Parts: sequence; C-alpha cells; structure tokens
Amino acid sequence: MPTVRAPRGGQITARSWPQEAALRMLMNNLDPEVAERPEDLVVYGGTGKAARDWPSFHALVATLRTLGDDETMLVQSGRPVGVMRTHEWAPRVLLANSNLVGDWATWPEFRRLEALGLTMYGQMTAGSWIYIGTQGILQGTYETFAAVAVKRFGGSLAGTLTLTGGCGGMGGAQPLAVTMNGGVCLVIDVDGARLARRVATRYLDTAADSLDAAVDMCVAAKRERRALSVGVVGNAATLVPELLRRGVPVDIVTDQTSAHDPLSYVPEGIDPADAPDYAAKKPEEFTDRARASMAKHVEAMVGFLDGGAEVFDYGNSIRGEAQLGGYERAFAFPGFVPAYIRPLFCEGKGPFRWVALSGDPADIAATDRAILELFPDNEPLARWIRLAGERVAFQGLPARICWLGYGERDRAGVRFNEMVASGAVSAPIVIGRDHLDCGSVASPYRETEGMRDGSDAIADWPLLNALVNTASGASWVSIHHGGGVGIGRSIHAGQVSVADGTPLAAQKIERVLTNDPGMGVIRHVDAGYELAEHVAEAKGVRIPMREPHGR
Ligand code: NAD
Repeated sequence: MPTVRAPRGGQITARSWPQEAALRMLMNNLDPEVAERPEDLVVYGGTGKAARDWPSFHALVATLRTLGDDETMLVQSGRPVGVMRTHEWAPRVLLANSNLVGDWATWPEFRRLEALGLTMYGQMTAGSWIYIGTQGILQGTYETFAAVAVKRFGGSLAGTLTLTGGCGGMGGAQPLAVTMNGGVCLVIDVDGARLARRVATRYLDTAADSLDAAVDMCVAAKRERRALSVGVVGNAATLVPELLRRGVPVDIVTDQTSAHDPLSYVPEGIDPADAPDYAAKKPEEFTDRARASMAKHVEAMVGFLDGGAEVFDYGNSIRGEAQLGGYERAFAFPGFVPAYIRPLFCEGKGPFRWVALSGDPADIAATDRAILELFPDNEPLARWIRLAGERVAFQGLPARICWLGYGERDRAGVRFNEMVASGAVSAPIVIGRDHLDCGSVASPYRETEGMRDGSDAIADWPLLNALVNTASGASWVSIHHGGGVGIGRSIHAGQVSVADGTPLAAQKIERVLTNDPGMGVIRHVDAGYELAEHVAEAKGVRIPMREPHGR
C-alpha cells in the first residue's frame, strides 16, 4: 500500500488548478493524518472510502493529471469510468457513490455488490473528496452542544456532564465540542487506539484507566464547573447501562458509535480486533448481535431520558437499529436536527468549509481574518473562529469550517478568490461543504426528520441540488446514497468549488455559493417554515409558487 499525501505549494502537475485541486483533495482524504484506515482507502464513518480500490485510485490520479479544461471525468462509486468532452463551465469531475435502486437498497445487497467489486460506500465527504478530518464535524458539534446549552442550561455547559459513545473520525469531535462549551464529557470507545489518537490530536483531554477513575474525574470536574473530557475503553452497550445503574449524575446523553452500519458497531462480548473478521465471516449473526447490543444501549439512553437528562440521536441511526434489535421505545428521544439545527437550515446555514492547497497554515490564518472582517457583527462566528485558531490541530492540508448562510457563503468565496488573485494567500483555496447541509440531503432519520409537511423521504431535493450546482459551475459535484445513516436511509449531494484567483472562478463561485444554500431556503419554504419564508422574502430568493401566478 502506498502512503498517500497531497502535494503542497504553488507548482502543479495537473493541467489547471481545478483538476489539481481534485487531485490534492483525493490524496488528502487518504493522508494517514486524515484517514482512519488509509490502507483500505477508508477515510471515516465506518467504511466510507475515497476510491473503490488501489487500481481505481491510480487511474483517478493519472486521469486528473491529464484532464483538459473542457473535459469531465465520471466517477462511479470510486472508480473512474469515463472522460467526456464538456466545456469550461462544467464540473471537472462528476461522482455518483453507493446509489442503489429502491427495492435493492439494503445492506445485504450493498455488501454483495461491494464484494463483487461493483460499488463502494462513499459516506458523505469521503467519496466526494472534501473530508478535512475531525475539525469538519467539530464546528457542527460545537454548534449543537451550544444549542443544547441554550435550550436547557442557561447558555453554557459549565457544571454539566455529557455521556457519549464513539471516538472515531466524526465522534472524536464530541469531547472537544463539549469542553469548548465549558462542560465535562465522558466518552466510551471500545477501541483504546481511537481514544489515544484523539488525545494525541488534542480532541480528548485524557483517557482513564478504568470506569471508576473516569467517573471520579468527571464528577469532580462537574462539581468544580471545570471543562474536562475523559475517555474510557469499553463497550457502550455495557457501560451506558452500568452508568445508569450507578446513578452517575449525567445531564446530556448522545452517541456517535458507527451504529449506522450494524457490521461496524461492535457487539458486547466481542473484542474490537476480532470484529472485522467475524463480521465478514458471519454478517447476519454479527448484525443480530450488534442490534441486540444497540437495543440495550438505547434502552439505557431512554433510562437517562426518563431521569430528566437531555438525550438526542446524533445522526448515526442508533434508534432505528435498536428498534430492529427489538427495543420498542427507541424513538423516545429526538434526532439532533429537529431538536436544534432546523432553524439554521431555514436560513440556508450549513457547514461551509475551505482548504489551503498551499499546505501553509498561514493561509488559513489569513482567511480566518477575512471571515472576521466580513462578518464583524456575528459574535458566535467570531468566537468559533478564534477558538478554532487556538485549539484545532490541522490534519492533512490546513482547513477551516464555519457555518454560513444564504448571502454569506458567496461573499466569503468571492473574497477568498480575490485573496488568491492578490497573493494574500500563497495558492488556491478549495471551497466545499459537508453533505449534511440545508438543501442537499433527504434523510428521514436525520436532516429531514419530522419535516413540517411530512416530506421527510422526498429525495428530489438533493438531486436538484446536484443539478443546480453542476449548472452553476462547481468544480466537482457528487450524488451519494447512505451517508451517515446507512444504506436505504438517505440520498445526498455535495459540491466543491476552486478559488484559483481567476475572473472565471469568481463568477462560478458567486453563482454556486448563492444557489447551493438557496436550495436550503427554498426546500424549507416549500415545507412550510415561516423563518425560511422571511429569509426568502428579505433576500429576494425567487419561488414561483409564492409569486402572484403561483398562489
Ligand atoms: P468511525 O467508524 O470513525 O468511529 C466509530 C467509533 O465507534 C470507533 O472508534 C469504534 O471503535 C466505536 N465503536 C463501535 N462500536 C462500539 C461500541 N459497541 N461501543 C463503544 N464504541 C464503539 O465513525 P465516525 O466517523 O466517528 O462516525 C460515527 C457515527 O456518526 C457513524 O454512524 C456516522 O455515520 C455518524 N455520523 C454522524 C454525523 C453527524 O453529523 N452527526 C456526521 C457523520 C457521521
């Protein structure tokens, strides 16, 4: 297996910067600092991959190096399947990952096709080459815990204890997000190496030797209103019920084990080192055992809920899996989107992110300053940018994320392009986002859970999102199935645009970064959210059915 790391600096080996950017971002996804299992091409989220197999990876790289400015490479589940003549406004890459026809959209069928080498799991930003390490989820997680603090604890998590599971690629953001909000976090992971990795990257303060030691540390910090995060090795299906039984004073409970895929959630009684082999050899038996464990795990979460804790599903489908495992009250607690995030989506807000292709952290510092200048009145944004500058250790190419809304993302993107043109940064900037965005996903267990008009499972919206981004000039566009919640449960789209300092890039960026969050506004207007209606009206988003002829 080769060690992959994106080239740095201003020299390129592709024909233009958009192709070079795709090349560097594909490689960056597989950088050992970034990817959870680069040897298997797995970036994050259980089995989310950047390329289907190593021959596909090499073909992707070679094709990106020769791809013309009027050509588009087509990628089918991580494998380059064609190059087509298009035009300079067209994306250089179009990707479709993990998509299956409805009746066939099940994990067993997906696994069968995967074993035949016909597909791969793309997760969200793994297969669309815009993963930026744990920071990517950190800001969203920070926002979510800030919203919990506002809803229940007077605006700060100081003096509260959060209990969660899973300290992997995404879940590893939880301890830092809690301590950034002033709280105490106890995180359980079955794999000690995952905890050690988060300690090394400063996302987790410490790993305790035992459950007793972990509880003592957390309870003392809670009493002293001191921010602290503690990891403990164990199976969440065992330890969450045990903590409930002991009456540990937990205020908030959630989970980010890889529950969306029952072959990734380690059942009780299984050593994590043996789990992949067991899952491969006996997938059905493994699934049954994983679901039975998840049922126990969720039953204990509901126990905490009944005791008055704030409990929410953090987008990993653990409620659905626990229900399949036989636990009937699994949906007693809500998902995090309806509970905390939907008002942001109504404003077209979502996880805007960018990456410095130079590899120079000074370029991100310069863009951080630009964001502070552009949005001087947004205090929460300024607080995040300052905290991120101090506390976030970059993984791979330096990157930043912050949530921006309709009418904000385009301004930031155009400013970044000007900075590239003027030399204020030393190489182009890649601008993208998570697929977990306001108008790019249909996911009834997560982003579109409990939509006001009942349109949770309507998947036309992400498809329109990909089409409009393609029509608006994005550099690469993707349509995925599955993502964070698993096969059969979501359809979502991504876009990435490259600010290379050219006037053409400025025009494309202005359109993409207006239309992409615009999808969030129109999607929520269509579903009947007044806040989205106000945003559309105030910002002049055209919605035919709200114009005189449509009423
Ligand atoms: P990951 O595979 O990198 O990490 C999962 C972690 O869970 C691993 O460290 C593993 O050791 C641990 N684990 C598995 N079974 C366990 C058990 N029984 N007890 C304790 N620990 C166990 O996955 P990730 O990227 O961190 O994603 C975690 C979950 O969150 C996935 O289901 C993913 O789809 C979902 N997700 C949520 C969001 C969101 O916005 N909320 C975004 C992306 C992904």
